[in-house]
Amino acid sequence: MDGIHRKSAIYETGEIILSLFDQGEDLLWGRYERQLPLCAFTDNGLNCRRCFNGPCRINPFGDEPYQGVCGADRDQIVMETLFQATLGGVLETARALSILEEPGAELPDISMDLPDKTRGRLSAAGLLPVRRSQLGEVQNSYFSHKGYLGRTLKDLIRLGLIHYALLKRIGNADDKQGGWEGSPDNGSANLLFVGQPSAALWGSLKKHIAEKNLKINLWGNGSSPASPFPLLADHGTPELALAMNVDALILAPNAGLPSLGPLAEKLGIPVILVDDSKTPEQTAAQAIDAALRHKGNAIDAGPFPVPSRIPAKYPALFEKSGAIKEALKSGQVGGMAVIIGEGNVKQTLFERTLSLMEKCIEQKCPVLLAGGLAAQSLLLEKELKARTGSIYSAREKELDSIGIAPLTCLGGFGRIPELVAFLRNLGYRKESATLPAVISFPEFHRTATWALAVSFLALGFTVQIGTRLPFWGSPALSEILLKDWPEVSGGTLLASASLPDGQTQGQQLISAIKATGKE
Ligand code: SF4
Repeated sequence: MDGIHRKSAIYETGEIILSLFDQGEDLLWGRYERQLPLCAFTDNGLNCRRCFNGPCRINPFGDEPYQGVCGADRDQIVMETLFQATLGGVLETARALSILEEPGAELPDISMDLPDKTRGRLSAAGLLPVRRSQLGEVQNSYFSHKGYLGRTLKDLIRLGLIHYALLKRIGNADDKQGGWEGSPDNGSANLLFVGQPSAALWGSLKKHIAEKNLKINLWGNGSSPASPFPLLADHGTPELALAMNVDALILAPNAGLPSLGPLAEKLGIPVILVDDSKTPEQTAAQAIDAALRHKGNAIDAGPFPVPSRIPAKYPALFEKSGAIKEALKSGQVGGMAVIIGEGNVKQTLFERTLSLMEKCIEQKCPVLLAGGLAAQSLLLEKELKARTGSIYSAREKELDSIGIAPLTCLGGFGRIPELVAFLRNLGYRKESATLPAVISFPEFHRTATWALAVSFLALGFTVQIGTRLPFWGSPALSEILLKDWPEVSGGTLLASASLPDGQTQGQQLISAIKATGKE
């Protein structure tokens, strides 16, 4: 793993990685290294597999080939990559929703979630209302003729709005599931669920444990849009959770990390699959039994504890918009920073996130964490306190009078609609781009996370990207994304092909918050 110098900004993460390395596991970093050097065509979004005449590639350095077999040029191929990544992310969320509720229900009306001006602008463009059937109608028109570019951009925005509507339904389904009552107990067996649990399986797990009064901690991993489980701080990847006293693993079909099952089995951790041959009750009983037996047979507790945070279903901060508005006016609060994402193997885990957070704390901007990063909030808070020292405790004291904290963990993507409502309350009737808030994605790898960035852009927010995306092989398209998006939805994308460092992006984030906070 020599090619990747520093795996994580958090010291303990390095220790966990080394302990697994000593057991012969080099994890996602080792597998990443064996992929190097990455294909420059693919890395820049300049390859296409849209039809069986291909795959085709466009030379990123300006030499031949300039076109695919069908005649598509670099702009058209990069747009196709962007379009497919967005659609893939939205479909991932749609599939998670189909696990939570009966299929076929229509999407909720999202128009009332939008400021009047944004609603009017999107309605005039034919982008409201959104319907589930539109998922089958969106298309990359750009591919057939460059004159259709505007339509494709509109369809990206439509996808973002559909994605937001899906998250509203997920949020409702998540509320119905109810969470886990009680705190994790150090002496209990730990059962980790990766992927999206169905309501029936979640109910069966809870019932089985409660009826028999079993000593089991249930954990989720923060990447599923709705998680009734407490989120396990897995240091950035569930692979590392396997070194943290996990006694059994339930893998849902949409868990999305093929390495996990084989790695758990190698480490002697039972793996239970969710499949149609078993009822939810049988799956729950099998998993609980396996976890208890593993815990009973464990010679010793491992060296790495299971730190966790259970996000409140409705964070206290969401009730405080009135007080926060006053604090914004008086300068007690500089603005709100929303940080969303999960680890990306190409970046030192959490380094960019921490750089942004440091700047936010310094500039009196409370931070809200969502997605996989929310699961790490205890780790991030500890590191942030160590980095900012007395500034952090000063901010805690200042914010105490409002009843909020410098750092709030929101949980999975199902909480996003409540977040949007909260941010809107900070600026009555104002368009999102003028709210004193920026949505930042400093590190991520999932297309569903990119689809969420598109949702925020479609809702008119300012969105900052801290991961290099494969969309920069076409300077013309990059220009369009940066310039034309605001005209259609009001949203602004802060991203560039040459990614600035974390400190520079931290400054960019604060400047954007200050700029958006102005009328
Ligand atoms: S560039 Fe054209 S010919 Fe090549 S794979 Fe894509 S669609 Fe097919």
